[in-house]
Amino acid sequence: MSVLTSEAVVLRTWPVHEADLLVSFFTRDYGRLKGMAKAALKSRKRFGGALEPMTLARAWFAERPRQELVRLDQLEILRSPLSTPVDQTRMAVLSFYAEVIDEALPERDPQATVFRLLASVLEQTTAAKSETVQPWMALTYFSLWMTRLMGLLPDIAHCMVCGDTLSEGEVRFNAYADGLFCGLHANGSGSALSADSWQLAQRMLRAPAANFAGEAWPRKRGQDLRRFTLQMLERHLERKLKTAEALARLGG
Ligand SMILES: [Zn+2]
Repeated sequence: MSVLTSEAVVLRTWPVHEADLLVSFFTRDYGRLKGMAKAALKSRKRFGGALEPMTLARAWFAERPRQELVRLDQLEILRSPLSTPVDQTRMAVLSFYAEVIDEALPERDPQATVFRLLASVLEQTTAAKSETVQPWMALTYFSLWMTRLMGLLPDIAHCMVCGDTLSEGEVRFNAYADGLFCGLHANGSGSALSADSWQLAQRMLRAPAANFAGEAWPRKRGQDLRRFTLQMLERHLERKLKTAEALARLGG
């Protein structure tokens, strides 16, 4: 039984008998895995504070013959979500990342691009200096890119129906179909995507998250863009995301 190692992000943990923990974690090289961490609650040496959800860590683990769960041996923190003061918004955003990754990715399916996306938004959500933490920016960037990487986001410069180039002020989306629509094909019940959000989406699809950290990010910014991407994610996953409700209560 050989021990494997990879960078990983802890998604969720469940206590099982005694001090053991069942851990869902997303590795860069092997995809999402579930593992048993024996005596995790007792062993500070092997796990330290690394079992906190959304910790970026180096993980050591081993496949077990005829077992679905891997044996999680050790985690070493690379970036902890607790390195900056915990506030409600940031916790809700981190929980949203965990739920989306846990729901959207099948087990044992390496997704290096999704891993890079997650690592980069974690950096923006848990930056060492609290004044540079931009949870709303990072949340918007993550949601938009997840829809793109899951193959849900079509060309956003043109109307899905007539193919005409969209223009500011008449960009619309609705709850029933992917993509954006012109005023004529908005299907009545649609919502408007603001000019700022539409431009933002086009810029975000071309540049790394760090490029947007210097901009002002009040809670309202990109709110309609987040709703647009959330509708697509939930439609594809065929369920409501619990953490999205928590974010909505915070005004996200
Ligand atoms: Zn149209």
